[in-house]
Amino acid sequence: MVFLCAISNISSGSCSEDCSFCTQSARFAAKIEKYKYKEISKIVDEAKKAKENRAVGFCLVTSGKGMSDEKLEYVSKVASAVKKAVPSLNIIACNGIATIEELKELKKHGVGSYNHNLETSENYYKSVCLTHDWSERYQTCINVKDAGLKLCSGGIFGMGESLQDRESLVSSLVTLNPQTVAINFFHPNVALPIKINPLNVDEALSIITYVRKNLQDAKIMIAGGRERMFSSREGEIFGAGANAIVIGDYLTTSGVKPNSDIQLIESLGLTLAKDCNG
Ligand code: SF4
Repeated sequence: MVFLCAISNISSGSCSEDCSFCTQSARFAAKIEKYKYKEISKIVDEAKKAKENRAVGFCLVTSGKGMSDEKLEYVSKVASAVKKAVPSLNIIACNGIATIEELKELKKHGVGSYNHNLETSENYYKSVCLTHDWSERYQTCINVKDAGLKLCSGGIFGMGESLQDRESLVSSLVTLNPQTVAINFFHPNVALPIKINPLNVDEALSIITYVRKNLQDAKIMIAGGRERMFSSREGEIFGAGANAIVIGDYLTTSGVKPNSDIQLIESLGLTLAKDCNG
């Protein structure tokens, strides 16, 4: 069974942090669309479209290191509006570093899960981000669970990390026992300090298998970079251990049309989940 999730970039770009893999950092001047807050009616329309495209989850993503009172109020309003319009969608919020109180507030407004990626190993994180610590990311993941939300956490592969870094990231994820593990493959952009993703398809598939082996009960979701990484071999991600994908567009890059993903999944004899529980 395969779970589909759609994402909406509800606040894009202009981030003051220096994550070298991220086009939303203001430091690298990548050519992306920037806006403070997307109109709520537009987000509700996207959520309805996601449901038509058979998504079971809908993720509200904001750029920036973490939460502010203003952002919390905005995301809460968006979550309430989406929940009212499409009650069957699981709402995931992804708003950076957050406290237990902030996360509880989101939960009150209909958010069911929170996505916060560890990104890479604690050690390698210092090579890709100097403006905040990996430990803050780890703590937020603990806060998510303490607030009673389901945790979605994972990382980005292909940023120049070593095999040991990948193993360390997966060990950290094991300690968090997330409900969903998000696996992203680095998507190069000329403006970013990290220039290439050195992984080949077989290496990427073996990463999925390794994550699946270590996190047997989790949903393993292939998110950003999927189409670029696997191209004509996309179907193999499911044999490697993935059972969830992000459909449609990503935060600042385009995805394929959801219909072609659905056709691919069905052609493999796999079924689509009707809700987050299957
Ligand atoms: S990953 Fe998040 S915190 Fe880092 S630059 Fe991008 S938006 Fe900012």
